[in-house]
Amino acid sequence: MRPTSYIELSESALEANISFIKNMLGDTRLSSVVKGNAYGHGIPIFCSMLYKTGVRHFSVFSANEAQEILASIPNDISVMVMGFLDDDQIEWAIQKEVEFFLFEEERLEKAIELSKKAGKAARVHIELETGMNRTGFDLKNLKKLFQYLEENKTHLHISGVCSHLAGAESIANYKRLVQQYDRFKRVKNHLSQLDWLDTTYHLACSAASIQYPKTRMDLARIGILQYGFFPSNEVLVQYLTKHKTQENPLKRVISWKTRVMAVKEVKAGEFIGYGTSFFTNIKTKVAVLPVGYAQGFARSLSNQGKVLIRGKRFDVVGTVNMNMTIVDITECDTIEVGEEVILIGKQGDLEISVSSFSNFSDMVNYELLTRLPENITRTVVK
Ligand SMILES: *Cc1c(COP(=O)(O)O)cnc(C)c1O
Repeated sequence: MRPTSYIELSESALEANISFIKNMLGDTRLSSVVKGNAYGHGIPIFCSMLYKTGVRHFSVFSANEAQEILASIPNDISVMVMGFLDDDQIEWAIQKEVEFFLFEEERLEKAIELSKKAGKAARVHIELETGMNRTGFDLKNLKKLFQYLEENKTHLHISGVCSHLAGAESIANYKRLVQQYDRFKRVKNHLSQLDWLDTTYHLACSAASIQYPKTRMDLARIGILQYGFFPSNEVLVQYLTKHKTQENPLKRVISWKTRVMAVKEVKAGEFIGYGTSFFTNIKTKVAVLPVGYAQGFARSLSNQGKVLIRGKRFDVVGTVNMNMTIVDITECDTIEVGEEVILIGKQGDLEISVSSFSNFSDMVNYELLTRLPENITRTVVK
């Protein structure tokens, strides 16, 4: 059954973004970060599109996401789980040759035990704590850790050594990031001397790849850029300044659309929707849309959001409900039931971008995108 709104993903936009990223990365390998249901774009469809552009390395947060990728595209790829796995899932990952982060002792022991049991080496990435203070092995036990890894090298294949930076999208974190980079670099220099260890080093996300090119190393874990967004306005402005251009090199892949569900005239002097947040000063015509916060249209867009119909911009009036939103169409009162409505995307000369959308709703692109429900129909367009 068709859901009440639909998402279109642009193949040409994705191609442009991937080519921008590959060009920037040069010899550094790209790992496409597709956690959070590919930032709301949908893992199966988005990974198929990525595969077509030549991407062969994917990063996710959890085992169920890894499984979804393996079920969607040919298996001549690497999948890396950066986050959570329970014991059963570690066993599954070893069998499926899915790579995963190790960031603490217990998980390390478990991985060795299960590798022995499976008679097959787990492919692991050793995550180091360089200053984010989230997950990662402490650097002070580094020597012991790598001695132990050497003793167990038949059971664990060290595919990578890595860390994550704490907020490369803001210059406010400059000092902390440089410190993290220095620590990681020192470790890398040290580990490079171990002759039993032949591995890759990775540290960078989207923002770091742009702002701190030295962090790219062997592999860069790139999320938000692929979808056509800069990690923050700050990174965008710095990029444009540095390259003396006004043109954003990235293209939004996603469009989100629905249709008018009902239209109605409201007399002057009435409230619209629940409560008293919108009052009609004049005779008003409204259109009702079949999307609400249950469909990912944030409640904070109440009396704030904009949509496009017939290439014109209209305001959300009243509160966003669970399944419905009301917009003021007084200025174009011939709009009819069934007409196309743009929630994110272009129509005529106007555009509702995710970031303008998220500025209204005070959320960053990341959060808004990942809130798009899984059950919205997604199709590929040119
Ligand atoms: C999400 C994530 C990334 C990608 O971040 P972007 O800012 O979207 O590029 C990279 N590394 C780790 C560990 C992550 O969790």
